[in-house]
Amino acid sequence: MNMFYYEPKTFQEACDLLNKYQDDAKLIAGGQSLMILLRQKVVVPEHLINLKNIKEGAYIKEEGGELKIGALTTHRQIEKSPLVREKLPAFAEVFSGIGSVQVRNWGTIGGNLAHSDPAGDLAPILMVLGARVRVISKSNSNEMPLESFITGYLETKLRASEMLQEIIIPLSKAKSGMAYEKESVRAGDMAMASAAAFIEIGSKGITRAKVVVGAVGEMPIRLENLEKELQGQGSKGELHIDPKFDQSIIRMDPYVSKEYKYEISKVKLRNVIQTAFERAKQA
Ligand SMILES: Cc1cc2nc3c(=O)[nH]c(=O)nc-3n(C[C@H](O)[C@H](O)[C@H](O)COP(=O)(O)OP(=O)(O)OC[C@H]3O[C@@H](n4cnc5c(N)ncnc54)[C@H](O)[C@@H]3O)c2cc1C
Repeated sequence: MNMFYYEPKTFQEACDLLNKYQDDAKLIAGGQSLMILLRQKVVVPEHLINLKNIKEGAYIKEEGGELKIGALTTHRQIEKSPLVREKLPAFAEVFSGIGSVQVRNWGTIGGNLAHSDPAGDLAPILMVLGARVRVISKSNSNEMPLESFITGYLETKLRASEMLQEIIIPLSKAKSGMAYEKESVRAGDMAMASAAAFIEIGSKGITRAKVVVGAVGEMPIRLENLEKELQGQGSKGELHIDPKFDQSIIRMDPYVSKEYKYEISKVKLRNVIQTAFERAKQA
């Protein structure tokens, strides 16, 4: 079968192509996840739309108390951004743990989220930060919380005619801290288990906590019971963290047992909550 190839220069041109070819089209950004699927013929699109020439798609800016990142911004651009390092240093840090410099030079934040690999590093940390995504099509543009954008294993709310344009991260005005940790075979590998926490504190301890466990289930999962237990803690300095969660969410992993995933997740959860809390105190 012939494959037709396109290099749109604007989001509008890309959306027009998606609208025309729908399920017969596939977007490619950095290719770091898609090339493997194309090579293995798991995905065989009739129309391949390369987004790399959409210059308006790669940017990082602060606007109205939020950080806005274009979907085509590479991992490396975010890792090295002085603005991200100043506003969200722990978020910038996460990128240095993604693959190698070569992978980070190609891979994009939009591609990472649209691929929706449960072992990916970006969704958990962006979820605790309360990030939203802007989804566009030929004639529409909508924002939605990242939490509802991700729907399952390699699944999102994106329809055939839609694409990701922007990731929006609210910047907290409170004393706050965040942390992310993953367990992987080697540094830079995909996670076997991961955890992210974001904590805001006031004079009476923790006022808001968001906690996500990643890479154990079909998608990153918020632990709302644990978040509630953390509320009000820490006014006397100590936290009591009991990071247990429903083990039935843990998926099979060819590399490690479900028991190992559970135990290591609990260690990571304890670590990130404690670190986020310490960082909030120092903020
Ligand atoms: C060796 C290696 C190690 C890696 N290690 C890690 C790691 O430790 N942690 C981690 O999180 N990731 C890791 N990755 C994945 C990497 O982060 C990828 O870059 C990312 O998952 C996909 O981004 P991409 O731009 O390359 O997307 P692509 O591979 O081009 O596309 C991926 C999917 O997203 C869709 N897509 C791309 N852009 C858009 C858009 N703007 N709107 C809608 N759909 C879009 C494509 O159609 C495709 O379905 C690794 C990859 C490799 C090859």
